[in-house]
Amino acid sequence: MPLLIPFNDIRLTQVSARATLPAHALAQDLCDALRSSKTGAGLAAPQLGILEAVFVFWPNRQEPVRVVCNPRILSRSAQTEVAEEGCLSFPNTYIPVERSKQIEVEYQDAEGGTVHGTLNDFAARVFQHEYDHLQGVTIVDKLPPHQREQVLAAHAKRLRKAGRMGKGAHA
Ligand SMILES: [Zn+2]
Repeated sequence: MPLLIPFNDIRLTQVSARATLPAHALAQDLCDALRSSKTGAGLAAPQLGILEAVFVFWPNRQEPVRVVCNPRILSRSAQTEVAEEGCLSFPNTYIPVERSKQIEVEYQDAEGGTVHGTLNDFAARVFQHEYDHLQGVTIVDKLPPHQREQVLAAHAKRLRKAGRMGKGAHA
């Protein structure tokens, strides 16, 4: 099972390169890791330490997981909404993030076929969250600097504690 890199790994802050397609193996690893997370709605390749522009997400739990490669957000609605978001790279942390309610997107599937579509509400939010990961941006970057430092310090403490207990760092 592919493991998530720790929250303080430099790769979570780096911009991903364009993915080479087809990307079946990477897409499969992302789907496996997302399904095993139980709570995640999406997962991006940098979270596995792979700096390629690929992510997977559930528009909702009734639909199959979608594989998104080399995405572009063509337009974002002016209408936004603030809601709490979690991230598999920052377990048990929920941060209010303002997102556009509707976005128009274009991306490639794992085969390299072009997909064009409009996403709303929850699906739009998850897509924007995962798209941020490909730019090296995470939800903690949405916080004011002092709060961001507090959250990072709490996660550093969590990792040290996990290390002392001999369980290693998992997230
Ligand atoms: Zn995330």
